[in-house]
Amino acid sequence: MPRDPRFDILFEPVKIGPLTAKNRFFQVPHCNGMGHAKPRAHAEMRRVKAEGGWAVVSTEEVEIHPSSDLSPYIEGRLWDDSDVPFLAMMTEAVHRHGALVAIELVHAGMNAANLYSREVSLAPSAIATSANFAPAQARAMSKSDIRAFRTWHRQAALRARRAGFDIVYVYAAHGLSLPMHFLQRRHNHRTDEYGGTLANRARLLRELIEDTKEAVGADCAVAVRFAVDELRGGDGIEASGEGRELVAMLAELPDLWDVNVSDWAHDSRTSRFAPEGYQEEFVRFVKTVTTKPVVGVGRFTSPDAMVSQIRRGVLDFIGAARPSIADPFLPRKIESGDEDDIRECIGCNVCVSGDYTMTPIRCTQNPTMGEEWRKGWHPEKVPPRSGEDDFLIVGAGPAGLECARVLGRRGHTVHLVEAQTELGGRVTREARLPGLAAWARVRDYRLGQLLKLGNVEILRASPVTAEQVLEFGARRVVLATGARWRRDGVGRTHTLPVPGFGREGLLTPDDVMDGRYPAGPTVVFDDDHYYIGGIVAEKLRREGLEVILVTPAERVSAWTVNTLEQHAIQRHLLELGVRIMTNTHMAAFSGDEATLECVYTGRRSGLAAASIVTVTSRESNDELADALAASAQALGAAGIASVVSIGDCLAPSTIAAAVYAGHRYAREFDQPDSVGFRRELPQI
Ligand code: ADP
Ligand code: SF4
Repeated sequence: MPRDPRFDILFEPVKIGPLTAKNRFFQVPHCNGMGHAKPRAHAEMRRVKAEGGWAVVSTEEVEIHPSSDLSPYIEGRLWDDSDVPFLAMMTEAVHRHGALVAIELVHAGMNAANLYSREVSLAPSAIATSANFAPAQARAMSKSDIRAFRTWHRQAALRARRAGFDIVYVYAAHGLSLPMHFLQRRHNHRTDEYGGTLANRARLLRELIEDTKEAVGADCAVAVRFAVDELRGGDGIEASGEGRELVAMLAELPDLWDVNVSDWAHDSRTSRFAPEGYQEEFVRFVKTVTTKPVVGVGRFTSPDAMVSQIRRGVLDFIGAARPSIADPFLPRKIESGDEDDIRECIGCNVCVSGDYTMTPIRCTQNPTMGEEWRKGWHPEKVPPRSGEDDFLIVGAGPAGLECARVLGRRGHTVHLVEAQTELGGRVTREARLPGLAAWARVRDYRLGQLLKLGNVEILRASPVTAEQVLEFGARRVVLATGARWRRDGVGRTHTLPVPGFGREGLLTPDDVMDGRYPAGPTVVFDDDHYYIGGIVAEKLRREGLEVILVTPAERVSAWTVNTLEQHAIQRHLLELGVRIMTNTHMAAFSGDEATLECVYTGRRSGLAAASIVTVTSRESNDELADALAASAQALGAAGIASVVSIGDCLAPSTIAAAVYAGHRYAREFDQPDSVGFRRELPQI
């Protein structure tokens, strides 16, 4: 299809210092849990982005010195010459597709606990390190430390050029780097020429930009990444104050401004807490004070929103981390008039959890993310079918939909059968909860693709029994029947049922999603610790109920630390008037009283409660699998070669895991059993 001319503006070349970017799509730096530990996987992941049409492809934070050792987190590393070849793999791979490659040099200062290098952390002033309550302090940098730091940064820039990078970042964003710490009044208590006035606090940043330009500026563009607002009021940098003054002060010094808000949780807000384009109000001043090109982010997935940013003079480049993770081919799809095929980011931040858990990046929408090298998966290409197998897939949740999509793309005949009238399984149900509307994109993208495939038949409102599976006689049967929330209290804390659970007045998230609400004061018992407990509490509070959230964890929705949401969730619930009791077990429920127990002392207390919504764990809908397993002979007679359970009906997990399971089965069912993935082993 030809490209819609209204999107032409997105494909204009833009000059950045001595270089020209071929279009306005800019993959800004993002972590990925692979970095220096898995350089091949990292290089291939970035290459695929370049293939997908991004004009600029960036690294994540790249540590420039052992005193900026972010271990155990896995970022890029450029401590000395021995790191150059690993990063050169990325630049070579990206250059093959005509994209520019950017490197984000970082010295993390007091954010680096230096657990591997055992160096003492550095900061503008003597201050406790900010790394997870680590019992260590950073020392105040002397003038000679500052000179040494400038030398390390300069050497890193020269190494970056040798590694083939086109754009070298000076990084002062997210509160995660030394130049930013010098800018922040709360961290910079110095009385010399590097402290006090903004001009003094900005001195180090200015020097780094000048050093970098002097070192590599003839061939490379020098970018500055700066957080114009820390969203902490007068205690931090504000776009209406020092944020604006700083950009105005250094306006023409770098070749490019990459601007955002800080900290990372604010920059990468989930869709639950911020819509597309949410940073505009903070960054829109930047283009009024500099003539240099400006890149900004805002989880942009709509080409119209992107065009609007450019036309209204807010940005020159559409920056993207998450939209490029969910769909590495986003620019190419717009370019070729296939924007309806964009796999839109849902804003869930599962991708961020890879960094927090120090494992390769995963994405809910894009199951190939992080698998480009180790499994050889491409986000847009699947191998053609190897045989004539036809498939019956039972259940059209994320697992079933993705499985049908990929099998269909491979050319197989697929029958996707769903009990409900609506497709999407848990995604459709959960997307109706407060703040999760964007999650329906998991269903909508897949449905849009399936409707284009003539070889996939979708049957709705058709609950399937074992007899019907046998009658149907497809050669391969895939069960993707999902899971339901348990009623008995079994979860992480209680591995046996809680006394009194299962009685009248006890509900699960499924009941709430089905519109069955409790009456009277309600306890939401969250022993699941991801998002559902907090959202159910919010939903019920919004219905006007008195809600007490009880959890054995030390905070609400504890796992969402890994998706950068925990703070926002707890704050939101407190503001809504939800009462929160942490470090508390649920010992029993009598029908009008919950017996609570302190996780430390075991001390018990009573809490009047008319209802409990128990959010502990889920049990698989495996009845169909069991019935078919009991009919092994009949399966053979019906010509059924295999029956496989995938996704939540095998073991309940995240939506990302269900999508991955569907994708994996569709790619690998005809591969040898031993198929695994390539590993990157250290050389000896
Ligand atoms: P997953 O996350 O693994 O994809 P979901 O719970 O989201 O699981 O989706 C499972 C889907 O399977 C639901 O839409 C459910 O209605 C459907 N389903 C469950 N059992 C049957 C059945 N016997 N026949 C047809 N559809 C079923
Ligand atoms: Fe977007 Fe979620 Fe994928 Fe991250 S994991 S890119 S937030 S869909």
